[in-house]
Amino acid sequence: MKQFILKSSNQRISLYDKAICRLNDGLLYSYIEDNKSLVKIYNYSQIELKHGKKLIAMIENRPPFASEFESNSIQLMWPTDMVFDEVGRYKGYIIDKLNLQDYIPLSHLLAPIGNSKKPAAYNYRQKMLVAYHFAALMSNLHQNTIHLININPSIILLNKKSLKPLLIASDELSILDKGRKRFSALSCNWLYCSPDELVLSKSPDRLGLAQDNYAIAVLIFQLLNQGLHPFQAMPKNSFKLPPKLLSLIKNQKFIYGYSSGSDFRPPAWSIHDFFDDETKTLFARAFSDSEERPSASEWQLHLKKYISENNTSLNECSAHPSHYQFFNGCGICAKQELGLTLRDRLFKSMSYLSSIKSGFTESRIKFY
Ligand SMILES: [Zn+2]
Repeated sequence: MKQFILKSSNQRISLYDKAICRLNDGLLYSYIEDNKSLVKIYNYSQIELKHGKKLIAMIENRPPFASEFESNSIQLMWPTDMVFDEVGRYKGYIIDKLNLQDYIPLSHLLAPIGNSKKPAAYNYRQKMLVAYHFAALMSNLHQNTIHLININPSIILLNKKSLKPLLIASDELSILDKGRKRFSALSCNWLYCSPDELVLSKSPDRLGLAQDNYAIAVLIFQLLNQGLHPFQAMPKNSFKLPPKLLSLIKNQKFIYGYSSGSDFRPPAWSIHDFFDDETKTLFARAFSDSEERPSASEWQLHLKKYISENNTSLNECSAHPSHYQFFNGCGICAKQELGLTLRDRLFKSMSYLSSIKSGFTESRIKFY
């Protein structure tokens, strides 16, 4: 039985032999002395000094909403204490206990909804609800001067009942400690990294709120528009192959709603045309290189009106209960009626396969 010592009290803790799950850089265990907590033990022989200082700053600057411990509402794996081994090397940290079997990867909600008679696993309103909860969480983090930076589906789980997100890599985010020193984020996925940062090749420690606001909009766009990345596009010339997504992102040409003067068009299964004007304007601001991107709280306020009980802005589609529609008809039905060309169908499966291959949509948590 592995034993470690708590930093705060010098109390010894004894881990159960079998880990609950594997995270990308460590294992999560229950331990005998406290059934309301878990311990993450890193794979490394010792935590780097800089990372240890960051964990201490996180423990001392716990955001108020992170401590609302209810098994269904916890949204951050926030450190509450650190642990070291017999020879004094820092090996990991303590978090509040989570029932991980109550969660699913966010990537499950990025799959496009089709017109199959069988209802989709998650309907459009649920995707909207996830987008709202995600914006609300990010707004809370930003109010507490925390930047997530590495926003992408692989670090986000969703509670099966509430569809609230849980960030599984809280120790990677960027925080400000009481001494006003900022501890930076560790990485940033290129698929969610803003084009200006990609072109300038800024390292994660130079990224801040503007990067978060960009990535929030990408994830909301994917949830609302059938899993499509906002820079994903098809050449209008049917003899040309679609360019690589990275080059489209770097060129930063957001063609959704603006494709008339462009050589590109949105993929045929995009339902962006059916969004209301206010939603379209927010996306246009997020992906234009000249305008100020909407903040998390702006998204939160905007999305709230689609998920409230008495909302009239998003209505169930009369033909398919998995679909929902804004004011101008059901986009999913309309696009399906037009039928996808063979080229679009090929591109749809290719883009899905490449997102799986790149590993960005798969959760970084593996359950035992
Ligand atoms: Zn429909």
